[in-house]
Amino acid sequence: MTCKIDYRASDDLLADRVILVTGAGDGIGRAAAKSYAAHGATVILLGRTTAKLESVYDEIEAAGGPQPAIFPLNFEGATLKDYQEMAETLDKAFGRLDGILHNAGLLGRITPFEQYPPALWEQVMQVNLNGPIWMTQALLPLLKASRDASVIFTSSSVGRKGRAFWGSYSVSKFATEGFVQVLADELENLSSIRVNSLNPGATRTRMRQSAFPGEDPATLRSAEQIMPTYLWLMGPDSRGHTGERFDAQPPRR
Ligand code: NAP
Repeated sequence: MTCKIDYRASDDLLADRVILVTGAGDGIGRAAAKSYAAHGATVILLGRTTAKLESVYDEIEAAGGPQPAIFPLNFEGATLKDYQEMAETLDKAFGRLDGILHNAGLLGRITPFEQYPPALWEQVMQVNLNGPIWMTQALLPLLKASRDASVIFTSSSVGRKGRAFWGSYSVSKFATEGFVQVLADELENLSSIRVNSLNPGATRTRMRQSAFPGEDPATLRSAEQIMPTYLWLMGPDSRGHTGERFDAQPPRR
């Protein structure tokens, strides 16, 4: 597994690129949106809580980044029609898409499978897997219009090795890894779109805190600290890599 924690991105690494970040209002997505904008990207901030997206928008503007765009969308209720309309809106505004960071995610519940509520299982699959997949299908023509598009799907260590009680979250991440391989293989010789999976590793966010309530957050890397790999994989220095798995930080001991 490759990790680029020591990568140093140039200030203009993502200049003139249009990049969609899902779950951009909080945690890792928030840090990624700000980091991509700080390196020159026009960022489309997608998420379910508009107020959070607006505060990221304000922070990017205050830092002097390119003017971002806000796209409120909840993967739980979104339909194919919503994704199609989204593609039309982005086509009119930008005419292409140079990257997608699929980052939005739902933990569900850490519980024995015997007690896993079916409705919650489906909700997690919808947010972590099905919604992002159909959104990607609708956005493929825009990605094809880019000279160098990078699509990153967020995985997890439990998407690479199953762990007791992690239920649909783990299964959704395994399926994400599978989808990355399928789509990367399909697009490899037909387009300049690369598709890879990225495991952030243990990172100090709201989701991590709810999964491990007894853990001292001070022992974890912040979302800002894991950005080197997010930048490398989104920018031109990772050209030629597709269908691969990456880690944003070395495994914890
Ligand atoms: P987080 O702080 O809980 O942030 C998750 C983001 O996803 C939030 O912005 C949230 O929106 C958004 N989201 C959730 N449900 C959504 C929906 N139905 N529609 C649209 N957006 C939705 O979690 P995080 O730790 O930053 O996690 C980011 C990604 O990294 C996830 O895919 C997660 O599985 C993965 N990951 C995290 C860790 C870790 O240690 N933190 C480790 C491995 C993998 P709201 O802000 O509106 O709730």
